[in-house]
Amino acid sequence: MVFEGLSGKLQEAVNKLRGKGRVSEKDVKEMMREIKLALLEADVNFKVVKDFIGKVSERSVGQDVLESLTPGQQIIKIVHEELIELLGRESSKVTFSPKSPTVFMMVGLQGSGKTTTSGKLASLLRKQNAKKPLLVACDVYRPAAIKQLEVVGGQLNIPVFNMGDKVNPVEIAKAAIEHARLKLYDLVIIDTAGRLHIDEELMNELVGIKKAVMPQEILLVIDAMTGQDAVNVSQSFDEKLGVDGIILTKLDGDTRGGAALSVKAVTGKPIKFAGMGEKLSDLEPFFPDRMASRILG
Ligand code: GDP
Repeated sequence: MVFEGLSGKLQEAVNKLRGKGRVSEKDVKEMMREIKLALLEADVNFKVVKDFIGKVSERSVGQDVLESLTPGQQIIKIVHEELIELLGRESSKVTFSPKSPTVFMMVGLQGSGKTTTSGKLASLLRKQNAKKPLLVACDVYRPAAIKQLEVVGGQLNIPVFNMGDKVNPVEIAKAAIEHARLKLYDLVIIDTAGRLHIDEELMNELVGIKKAVMPQEILLVIDAMTGQDAVNVSQSFDEKLGVDGIILTKLDGDTRGGAALSVKAVTGKPIKFAGMGEKLSDLEPFFPDRMASRILG
């Protein structure tokens, strides 16, 4: 998992306090220094680290903690709680619109996992709230993107609406919603184009699609392995489009993914799902408490 390195170091830092009968302010300071280094090394945003360390330190050096019977355990609990807070506290679900079809728009940089995740999400939600999902191919620029979505849809037995790559994506999205209404699809997931970097033209196109279909949710797909870039990307998409939730992909990866820990804190937007592998079943609802427990062991 992308948090493995971080996880090991955090565990090492907090374990020094585990079972300690007496903990001094100096012990806490030393632990906080190690945690700070671990977070920075894992590529967690500097300001986020500073806030996190500040909160944990403040709560940990209180008399009620240091003079309690199990100070070590209490401090570990504080670290755990603040990690949950950092990841978003409550788990956030996607919402469905009262009037069918519910429309979700997937946005993100090229390669972030949008196309695969569109399929994964349709499949996951078909097991829960949606009976009849439809995937929509609005990425008309990346060669083979439409074909890729069709392959994904085919594997999941979910239809894909496409009008080829010569039609304007705004028109495709509009036509798809019309089609969904007529054919009684209850969930429409629109796969949009990404670029390698954010650019004005892409953003304007996405704004156009948003205006045309008024999606219930705009979900930003972020590759957890892209480092600090992930944070910058999420900020720009949110500023331009207004994002409702984040889907972190490639959490199964093996590079440091600490930046992913910053995304919620920086944007204030909840992480709603996590991509845990390349298989189409590898998408899970995101639970901050479970992730914090996995990280702290
Ligand atoms: P798009 O350009 O944003 O549409 O990205 P794609 O859906 O084509 O995904 C890019 C690559 O990332 C593909 O090879 C996917 O299989 C892979 N991918 C997507 N999500 C995950 C994930 O959660 N874990 C792993 N390991 N790979 C993923």
